[in-house]
Amino acid sequence: MARRKKIYEGKAKILYEGPEPGTLIQYFKDDATAFNAQKKATIEGKGVLNNRLSEFFMTGLTNIGIPNHFIRRINMREQLIRQCEIIPLEVIVRNFAAGSIAKRLGLDEGTPLPRPVVEYSYKNDALGDPMVSEEYILAFGWASQQDLDDIVSLALRVNDFLSGVFYAVGIKLVDFKIEIGRIWDGDFMRLIVADEISPDSCRLWDIRTGQKLDKDVFRNDLGNLTEAYTEVARRLGVLPTQATHVNKPTLIN
Ligand code: 5GP
Repeated sequence: MARRKKIYEGKAKILYEGPEPGTLIQYFKDDATAFNAQKKATIEGKGVLNNRLSEFFMTGLTNIGIPNHFIRRINMREQLIRQCEIIPLEVIVRNFAAGSIAKRLGLDEGTPLPRPVVEYSYKNDALGDPMVSEEYILAFGWASQQDLDDIVSLALRVNDFLSGVFYAVGIKLVDFKIEIGRIWDGDFMRLIVADEISPDSCRLWDIRTGQKLDKDVFRNDLGNLTEAYTEVARRLGVLPTQATHVNKPTLIN
C-alpha cells in the first residue's frame, strides 16, 4: 500500500494529502495540550469524539448555508476536508466571561457580556498565540478590512447556530475559537470555516449545574475529559458507533 503524504502535524490533528487535488484528510489524535503545550497527555477516545462532533457541527453549518471545509467523514478518526489557506488568526467569540477575558478585565467567571464579543489571537505557538487588534491584522496584511467584515459576520453566525444547538441540550456556550481559511475559485476568493469545532475549542457549561464539559476539564484537572466529551456527544445524539471505553468483561463465578 502506498504511504500517504503528511502535510502538517499540529498538537491535536494531522493533515494528510487527500485523494483529489484541493482535498486533505484530517486525522484527529488523542493528544491533549494546554497552556501552550506545557501540559500534555494522551486521552483515549478524544480523537474519535472530536471527529464525530466536528462532523456534526460542520454539517449543521452547511445545512444553514455557512461555508466550511468539511466534505465527509471517512472513518472513526478521519474526515475529508477542503484544502484551504489558513488565515493565521484564532477567531474567538465570547458570550460570557471566562478564561483570558475574565483574567484580563477582572470579571467574575460566568458574567454575561453585553453582547457577543469577537477577538483575535495571532496563531503562533512560540509567542503563545498573543491577542491582536484589527489594526495589527490590517497592518501586517494577515487579512483585509473586507476579510475582517466577512470573518466577523461568519463568526457571529456560527455563534448563533452553536448557541442554539447547545441551548437545546441544556448546555451554555460560554465562548469558542474558530479558524478561517481562504479557498480560490479562479480569481475569486471565499472565506470558509476550517480546522475543527469541538469541546477542545469551546467552553461548554451545563446550564443547570454549571458543570464544565470542555477542555477546561483537562486544563484545570476537573475530572475525566472523555466522560465530559461523551456527555456532550450523548446529549447531541452523536456517539461513536463503537464506545470509546469498552467495559472489560466481568468474570462471573
Ligand atoms: P481564552 O482566550 O479564554 O483562553 O480562550 C477562549 C476560547 O477559545 C476557549 O473556548 C478556548 O478553548 C478557545 N481557544 C483559545 N486558544 C485556543 C487554542 O490554541 N486551541 C484551542 N483548541 N482552543 C483555543
